[in-house]
Amino acid sequence: MIVSRFAPAPTGLLHLGHVINALHVWGITRAVGGRVLLRIEDHDRQRSRAEYERAILDDLEWLGFIPDEPPIDAFRRGPCAGRQRDRQDIYTAALNRLRDAGLIYACDCTRRELRDAMTADGGVAEGELRYSGRCADRRLEWAPGRGLRVRFARSVERFDDLRHGMLAQCPAEQCGDMLVKDRDGNWTYQFAVAVDDFEQGVTLVIRGDDLLASTGRQLQLARLLGRDVPPRYLHHGLIMKSATQKLSKADRDTSVRDMREAGDPPDVVFGRALHAAGLLTTMEPTSRVEAERIIVQHYDVCAVLGRQS
Ligand code: GLU
Repeated sequence: MIVSRFAPAPTGLLHLGHVINALHVWGITRAVGGRVLLRIEDHDRQRSRAEYERAILDDLEWLGFIPDEPPIDAFRRGPCAGRQRDRQDIYTAALNRLRDAGLIYACDCTRRELRDAMTADGGVAEGELRYSGRCADRRLEWAPGRGLRVRFARSVERFDDLRHGMLAQCPAEQCGDMLVKDRDGNWTYQFAVAVDDFEQGVTLVIRGDDLLASTGRQLQLARLLGRDVPPRYLHHGLIMKSATQKLSKADRDTSVRDMREAGDPPDVVFGRALHAAGLLTTMEPTSRVEAERIIVQHYDVCAVLGRQS
C-alpha cells in the first residue's frame, strides 16, 4: 500500500502553497488507494510555535484534509508520534547507528566561517553553503554548542521523479558532509525527514519544487540508515508571489486563516489555489473533491503508480 505524508512546519500559518500541496498529497494518494500521514515538522524548536500548530490542525480540518494517521485529535491531546518534537528517541537511535558505522563527526564551524571559506575558495557567496570537510578528521568531542555531521560519499543519487523524470544529484558536491544536528541542538530538517520517512514507512513523497535539491541527500541518508527501497518522489510546481519570490509564511501571504476569517468558504480557497497554480484558467469556487480530481488528471500519476489497495 502506498503511504504518503503531509508535513507542515508550525512556524507560520497555512497558505495557498500548503493548500496546493495538500490537494496533491490527498488527491493522488487517495486515487491510488494509499494512506496519508500527518507529520508536524517542529524540529526547529526556536522557530516552532504551539499556536501555529493549533491553527494548522484547525485549518486542515476546516478544509476537509483528514489524515489516516494519527487522528488530528491525537496531536491535541499531548505527545504524539506524528510530531517531531515527540520523536527524540527515534532520532537518537538513528544517530547512534550512523555513529557506530563511523559516519558521524562533531563540527565547530559557524555558518559565517563556511561562507568565508567558500568565498575565499572562489565559490559562490550566495546559493547553497557547501561544507569543506574542515572538521572531518579533527576528532572533536561531541559537546553542546557543536554540530554533528554525517560523512557523505561522492556518489550520484538518481531518482525518477513522477513529474520531472530522471534526475541526478551529488550531495557531496551540493552540500558536502551534512549537518544532522545543529549547534543549537536541533535535528536538521534533512535528517529528521529522512529518518521519519523511513521509520514511518512513507513510500511516496509529494512536495513542492523548492525541496527538489534535498532529495539526493535524503536518499543517501536513508540508505546509510539501512533503507533498501527508497520512496518515490513527485515535486510539484510552486505558487509564486512574483516571478522570483515564493509565498512566505512570514509575510502572512494568502493565509488560509485570513480567508476563513474574511468569510470565504473552503471552495473559494481551493479555487484560488488552483488558479494561482495555473491549474484553472479563472478563479472559480471548486470543491475539494473536484480540485483533487483536476490534479490527479493533470499528472496522470495513477497510470504510473497504479491503483493499489
Ligand atoms: N516541512 C516542510 C515544509 O513545511 C516540508 C517537508 C517535506 O515535505 O519534505 O516546507
